[in-house]
Parts: sequence; structure tokens; C-alpha cells
Amino acid sequence: MFTASKYLKIILVTDALIFLLCITGLISIEKKADVPFTVLTNDSYLIISKTDGTVNNIFPGDQLISVNGVYASSLEKIEFITDQLNVGDEIQITLSGKTGLKNVNVKLTYFYSDFYIIATTIVAFFFFIIGLFVLLKKIELKAALIFHWASISISAMLCLTWSNLNTFYFVSQYISRIILHIAYVSAPALFIHFTLAFPRDVSGRFKNPIRLNYIIASLLAVAGIYYYINAILSPSDLSIENYLRTFNIIRIYLIAAVVISITIFSIAIYNEKEVIQRKQLKWLLFGFVVGPFSFVLLWVIPIIFSGRALIPEEIVMFLICTVPITFSIAIIKYHLLDIDEIINRGIVYSIVVALFLSFYAFIIWISITSFKIADQSTVSAIAAIILVLIFQPVKSKVQKFVDRKFFRVRYDLKNELNKFNSAIHNFNDTESLSSFLINEIDKIIPVDKIAYCEFDHQQNKLIIKHHKNFDLIADKTLNLNPATLEKRRFAVAAIKNKVENEVEISSLYQNTLLRWKINVVIPIKSADDELYGFLLLGNKKSSSKYSIEDIDLLKSIGINTGTTIERIRLQEQVIREKLETERLEELNKQKSMFVSIVSHELKTPLTSIGIFTEFIKESEPSISEKTKNYLDIIEGETGRLTRLINNVLDFSKIERGVKEYSFRQTELNKIVKNTIELIKYQITIAGFKLQSEINENKFLICGDEDALTEAIENLISNSIRFSKDRKEIIIKTFEQNEFYCVSIKDYGIGIGQEELNSIFNQFYRSQSAIAKNIDGTGLGLPIVKHIVDAHKGKISVESKLNEGSTFTLCIPKLIKGDKDEQNFNY
Ligand code: ADP
Repeated sequence: MFTASKYLKIILVTDALIFLLCITGLISIEKKADVPFTVLTNDSYLIISKTDGTVNNIFPGDQLISVNGVYASSLEKIEFITDQLNVGDEIQITLSGKTGLKNVNVKLTYFYSDFYIIATTIVAFFFFIIGLFVLLKKIELKAALIFHWASISISAMLCLTWSNLNTFYFVSQYISRIILHIAYVSAPALFIHFTLAFPRDVSGRFKNPIRLNYIIASLLAVAGIYYYINAILSPSDLSIENYLRTFNIIRIYLIAAVVISITIFSIAIYNEKEVIQRKQLKWLLFGFVVGPFSFVLLWVIPIIFSGRALIPEEIVMFLICTVPITFSIAIIKYHLLDIDEIINRGIVYSIVVALFLSFYAFIIWISITSFKIADQSTVSAIAAIILVLIFQPVKSKVQKFVDRKFFRVRYDLKNELNKFNSAIHNFNDTESLSSFLINEIDKIIPVDKIAYCEFDHQQNKLIIKHHKNFDLIADKTLNLNPATLEKRRFAVAAIKNKVENEVEISSLYQNTLLRWKINVVIPIKSADDELYGFLLLGNKKSSSKYSIEDIDLLKSIGINTGTTIERIRLQEQVIREKLETERLEELNKQKSMFVSIVSHELKTPLTSIGIFTEFIKESEPSISEKTKNYLDIIEGETGRLTRLINNVLDFSKIERGVKEYSFRQTELNKIVKNTIELIKYQITIAGFKLQSEINENKFLICGDEDALTEAIENLISNSIRFSKDRKEIIIKTFEQNEFYCVSIKDYGIGIGQEELNSIFNQFYRSQSAIAKNIDGTGLGLPIVKHIVDAHKGKISVESKLNEGSTFTLCIPKLIKGDKDEQNFNY
């Protein structure tokens, strides 16, 4: 990993040396000498435009030919010469005026105003501080080191600019100017590098271009230094002009670097997805555009082309100042480079108040000087009184302003909440929801640590699900006493001095919160107060207290998250239930298959038993009456068992939806008679008296004979099974409107009125049947119903408890040529 910490000492010593050099530079700037007149460039001639009134014999419009014998081809050339002289020195200039050529001696004056020197000092100092601060705060970050050197270079550029070369003779003559040339190329080179290392470090991909950039910068620096020393040691028209040309090339490099840096930054902003980083970058870009770009556009380029800048150097100073200012804003407001707790709020208040006071003093000064007020002490007294009156309100306004603008990324509560709500709608699992939750909150209210813990209802424990920098509690589970889990207790809890006074909080658990460095606890619960978990927050990065706004927002987030978790849990439950139903259906299918296979297997031996019993009965005339009786019993029981198995098989077919019918024209009375024949044995053996009243007419129907037989058999068999003392069965067939019907009446145990609708349900057995211990499967009647429905017929039952039941089964008549006939012919 990259680390500058190893070299920190060397870096700091270098910084200190540069700092000292900068101070000598500032002193030399103060001593910089200038000619006592203003010159304009006009078609490569230098024309006097204004004199400062101290010189004679020089008039506006005169052309400047030479200075101290050196041909005056450009302003910078004159500057190069005057830099080697001091204020008060006399120089000889040659002019061409209306009266022809003339030589004039003039005394040099001061080049820079006091204002310019103060401005340079402040701006250079600002760059120095920011560069140092970023390095010390983020020593491990490559971008921070690059930024540091770039800032220091700019400081050096500002302080070591062209100035009096005699102030500290050797230092100003050589060392300062050598460093100036290095700074002039290293600042732009480093800025290009910085834009590739921040916010995403892509410098690895651009290793060669970066290297090339530094090589070009170094060559330019070497060339600049070489021509400078050459021009100083052997000054001549040529050597000075060579130097100035080289310096202009360095300036072109500076322009190119600024354009490249701005381009790279713009691309980075365009590609950046994260809101906060985009905002950071926008501030930096703003700084670049206002500072270096306008410096290049309004100062460097005009100098190259016309020898004169478009704006005064003082304004350039202020424009350059936007770089450290916007950088500071990006750091403080958007935690650029993740530097937290940047500057104590008090310092920011003081700076802003100081700026305000300076502005106030400036206004007073302007008014005193411009209105030429004689009695200055009265004005000062009035100004002081006004100041006393307005100081307090202004101070609190400033504090509020600073708080809002810098220490809290201002949010529109409703807006943030709406955004948050629409985002959490898309979550379908609590895992990703909780991770989103802490990231999102950290974006809205940057905090040094945050965690989401879930409440485990079974174990009464709190488990940390997701966290950022909460390593202290990351692997802890907190047991909660059930008594503390009373719903009303779940208000927002917080350490008292971490929230603003007006915020309502529960002050329970202060010690626990203090111990684990948890400043605020926000409960996450459902609409009806079921606890899902808590949100735990540490310090705000701004180191300010949590405000009412913050807590309201967090509370609403808590409620909305709770509702979402509730929804997610319901969804999960529905999915679970669906899976369970599917599993049960699958199981049911398997069971049905199993029953059907087993029943089939049972049917084959039963058929053999039936056939062989009948065979013995018919083919063995010698068998005794007793044996014949036994054989009858075997035959009867086999029939009963076969019916039971048929029921089971039929039922499983119905369940699987594979029961088929083969309809054809048939006659109901015939079917009824046959069925009675089939079941006669059972009727007799059980000692029943059967009364049958079968209609003599042909009851033509379209039906499945086997299925109808099975249905009637089931009904008769039920009558036998559910009769106790009065063993009588009456079977009738009759016509009823468009139906032919068969009714089976018994005098058995009957069915309760309230159960009449249920007996056709699968596996249903009546209360009285259960009470009287009559076995059964509850399969018969559902099968009968299925058969009747398949025939488009109907089945009804009349019954009274302990008096008996009558089941009536009706099948539609078959009328020749009727459409029903066709319908049934499938
Ligand atoms: P099972 O007879 O095997 O129990 P069914 O589906 O044939 O199954 O009958 C369902 C229930 O209806 C029976 O358990 C019984 O309680 C009632 N039931 C059916 N037929 C009669 C009847 N003739 N008399 C009294 N109860 C009856």
C-alpha cells in the first residue's frame, strides 16, 4: 500500500524550507521596482500611456526604445531589467518623441501596491495550510500527497514570482528563481496527476502518460532555469529574449495542463454515480474553472499575445483563491477525502465573523475617505456603537448560516423521505434492506458509525446485522429482559448531550449507550408496535448535535423501514405457505398413487377368491350345506371388500382427475334390478327385509351402467350399515319431471339436519355414525355425487335422526333426438 508516512519528516522539512523561502519571496515582492510610467504595447512598439507625474520630459505617446541600453521590445523585458535594480535607482531610458530621440533618467518606484502584497500573502498562506492539512489528515492517501505538493507549488509560484533580485542577493537571484521555475511546471503537472488519482484512482491505467507529463514538466523547468541563469550572467538582447520565450512556453504548458485537468474532472463528474462524490467534484471543478482557468484566460494568454494582462494582478490573486476555497468547501461540506471533523465549528464561525467585520471596516474606511469627513472620531464612535448593536444578532445569524451550509448537508426532510420510501419499496429481503438503510442514512446525515441490529423474538436478543465502523459492538449480542420489551418503551433513546435540547428523547439506558459509544437509538417497529430492531448511530461527522430535524427524519425512516420489514415478512410467509401447499399437494398425489397401486394389487387376489368360490359352489355337487354356507360368506365378503377397494380406486381416480365414464343408451330399472341381485347376499345375510317397487316401464337414460351400479350399490350398502333395529329397505324407481329416479329408504340411525349438506364431502362421517361406532371411510357418498354429477343428474336426501333416511338419485330422461342424446354420446 502507498504510504507517505515514512517520508513525513522529510516532507515537513521541505515544506518548512519552502515556507521560509516564500517569506523571503514576499519581502522581495515588496521591494520590486518599476518604471514610473505606464507602457502599452502597440504593434510590437512600446508606447508611453501615462506617467506618474514625477518625471519630466516623458509624454504620453512617446515610444520607448531602450532601457539601460537594452532594446525595449516587450514589457517583460523591462521588468527583467528592473528586477535587478532597487526602488530609487536611476535608469536611463531612450525615447522617440515628437522632437526626435531623447535620453531621460528616471527613478524607479514601487511595482506592487500594499494591497497586492497582503492579498498574495493571504492566498499563498491559504494554499500552504490546505496542502499541509490534507496531507496530515490523509497521509495514507496518494491523492492527498499529490494535492499537498500541488498546493505548496502554487504557494511557491505566488510568493517567488518575479520580484526584486537583490533583496537576499544569492537566495533571490538563484534559489528562489530556480524554485519558481520548478513550481511553475510542477503545480500544473501535479494537478493533472491529482485529477487521475481522485476521486477514483485510475493513475495505474495512465502510468505512461503521467510519466511523460512529468518528463515534459522537468525538461521545461531545466530549460527555464538554464536560460534564466544565462540571461542573468550574460545579459544581452538575445539571452533575455531567449529566456522570455522559454518562459512563455512554460506558460503554454500551464494552459494545456489546466485544460487537461478540467477535461479529466468533467469526465469524472459525468461518470460518477454517487451523489456526494459528484457534489465534491463539482466544487473542485468550480474552483478549477474560476481559478486557474480564468487566470489562464485573462492573464497568461493575453500576456503571451499582447504582453499585457486583461485584469489587474490583484484580481488574479482572488480568482486563484477560489481553488483552496472550493477545496475547503468540498472537504467541510461533503467530507472530501473522507476527512472528518475537519475544523472545529468555532474556527469557522470566527473566520466568517472576521470576514464580516473586515467588510464592515472596509465600508467605514471607504465612507470616511471618499466623503472626506473631517471628524473621524465621531464616525468611528458611531460605527463602534452600531457594531455593538448588530454584533450579537449577526453572530447568531452567522452561526446558523455556517451550521446549515457547512456542518449539515442541508436536506429537505420531505424530499429525502420520499426518495427513501420509493427506494425501499423495491426490497424483498431484510438483509439488503438493512445494508441499504445504513448507507442511505450515512449519506443524508453523515455519521462516524452506524449499525442496524435485529431483534430475535425467540431468544430475546439483539443481533447486529450491518454496521459501519461499529466494530466495538459488531460481534456482540445483547440480551433483552422481556420486561423491557414493553411496547411503549420503544421511543428514540439518546445520550443527552448529543442531541439538541428541544429534541424529545427517552433517557433510559444512558450508561449502556455511553459504554458502547452509541449516541442515538431509533426503534424500528411495525405499525402495531411489534419490534423488529434498532438503528444505532454514533457521532455526526460534523461533530454537531442531532437536531429535531435529524431525529424526525430518522424516526420517519424507522417507521417506514418497519412497515417495509412487515411487508417483507408477510411476503416471506405467503411464499412459505405456498411452498407448504405445493409440498402437501405433491404428498397427496404420491399417497393417491400409492393407494391406487395397492388397491389394484388387492383386487387381483380378491377376484381369484371370488371366481374360485363360485367355481367350487357350481362344480362340486357333493359339498355339504354347511360348506356351501361358508362359501356364500366368502363370496359375500369378497364382494364387500371388492366394493370397498373399488371405492378407494374410484376416489383416487376422482382426486387425480382421471375417472372416466362411458355413456351409452341404457335403462335405469334394469340397472337397479341388477344391482339388487348383486347385493342380495349382503341384504339377506344381514337379515334385512327388502321391498322393491321397480316401475314396469322402460326408463331410458344415457349413462354409464357400471358407474350407476356402483352408486346404487353404495347407497344400499349404506342403508344396511346404518340401520340398527328396524331392518327394512325400500327401493323404488319412479318418474319425476324430466328425470328418472331411484330412491332407497331405510329406518336406520338417520342423519342430523345440520349435517345433511356435509355428508357428500370427502371423508365426512356423521356424528351419530361415529357415536354408534359404525365403521366407514367417508368415500362412498362423494363418489356417488361425482357419478350423479357426471350424468347431469341430482341426488337428494331426507333424513331424521333415529327414524331413517331416504336417498333419491335422479338421472335425466333420454328423449330420442333430444340434444341431450348427442351430448351424452361421447
Ligand atoms: P362411509 O359410509 O364409508 O362412512 P359414505 O360417504 O358412504 O361413507 O357416508 C358418509 C356418512 O354419511 C356416513 O359416515 C354416515 O354418517 C352418513 N350416512 C350415509 N348413508 C347413511 C344412511 N343411509 N343412514 C345414516 N347415515 C348415513
